[in-house]
Amino acid sequence: EALDLRTRELTGRREAVLGASYRLFYRRPVHLVRGEGAYLWDADGRRYLDAYNNVASLGHCHPAVVAAVTEQMQQLNTHTRYLHERILDYTDELLTTMPPGLDKAMYMCTGSEANDLAIRVAKAYSGGEGMIATTEAYHGTSELTSGVSPALGAGQPIAPTTRLVPAPDAYRLGAPGSAALEAAGRDGVDVGRWFADRVRAAIAGMEADGIKLAGFIADSIFSSDGVLPGPAGCLAEAVEVVHRAGGIVIADEVQPGFGRTGDAFWGFRRHGVVPDVVTLGKPMGNGIPVSGLVAKADVLAAFSDRVPYFNTFGGNPVSMAAAQAVLTTIREEGLQEHSRVVGRELLAELRGLAAAHPSVGDVRGAGLFIGFELVADAELRTPDRDLALAVLEELRERGVLTSVAGPHGNVLKLRPPLAFRTTDIDQLVSALDASLTALGA
Ligand code: PMP
Repeated sequence: EALDLRTRELTGRREAVLGASYRLFYRRPVHLVRGEGAYLWDADGRRYLDAYNNVASLGHCHPAVVAAVTEQMQQLNTHTRYLHERILDYTDELLTTMPPGLDKAMYMCTGSEANDLAIRVAKAYSGGEGMIATTEAYHGTSELTSGVSPALGAGQPIAPTTRLVPAPDAYRLGAPGSAALEAAGRDGVDVGRWFADRVRAAIAGMEADGIKLAGFIADSIFSSDGVLPGPAGCLAEAVEVVHRAGGIVIADEVQPGFGRTGDAFWGFRRHGVVPDVVTLGKPMGNGIPVSGLVAKADVLAAFSDRVPYFNTFGGNPVSMAAAQAVLTTIREEGLQEHSRVVGRELLAELRGLAAAHPSVGDVRGAGLFIGFELVADAELRTPDRDLALAVLEELRERGVLTSVAGPHGNVLKLRPPLAFRTTDIDQLVSALDASLTALGA
């Protein structure tokens, strides 16, 4: 189908003036002009269900954030070298959501900056250089964070001091013929033990290469690795292994944080672990660029006592106003519980599709963060990337926006704003059902 005139004009202008690293979604790119709750509207007035955006976590253009930002912007916006209550009031509230011991906060504008600082802190505290990340991880745009982001592909090699471990993918580990299953025998794979063994081996390999361990960084729902909530608790043993080896554990909460997984406010809490450093981003300001790092005081001190850190926009009153409105709204609207309840209903409905469509290999999730895995052969669990991409296009034509994740790009990532309601389930599930039927899958 030919692109309409306006789409052609806008894509042409992008190509003319923007760097080629920018990639668009969809064969027929979507031109959005407005958002509200879990919905987006294009320039022709067509409404889409947003099943992808965890930044506008409270809902697009949430009035509480708009009001807080507007009010503060009209009064004052400056940086953290002057006294201001907002950063302190916000921090007091943020720290009440953390386990005891995680008691110092710092602020930036992007998840990349938060992870970049976290890695610097890990290196300063441990005296090591080596980082462990998962094989499809994404942690950011800077030199240090892209060094632990194999998801960027061969064009951006990981750092020579980084070692990769496969993410704990319970579906594949349990596949007939998988080495893990054969080794485990009749009892099935202990995913946590399996993962901890990989981390142990990575540390040993690193040391054999003369590299001292600095730390381990992971997003506890392994979003880029294909949305792997794992059995709750499956990170615990790996965290213990890292700690025993003198490494710092960084929980990258950019994706699972702020109530998204339903069971807990922070993703790491589902696994019953206490990291040394927690990084925050995306949903933190519901769209206002604000990110943060929370750390154990002694861990942060190893860096902060020696190195100054100033981030021009980080922690400014307007960003903090947005972040405060987000915390307040999550509490007042009960969004964590909402995510748990609606997420569970959505998961059940999506699992229902598997009965009618043999291409649905696995449906897994925590709260409103769901991975919907498409396979060419259900028995062998062969990833079907082409089908997943075709489904994205079909969904777009049916007014549902989302994207894919995982090493094979065959997992639909369903991660709507938490404003997603029970009444939206039908549209999402019907659109998926119709898309799979249209594709003969
Ligand atoms: N960590 C994770 C897990 C992410 O998903 C992302 C962004 N996709 C980042 C870090 C980087 O955040 P930002 O784009 O705000 O720099």
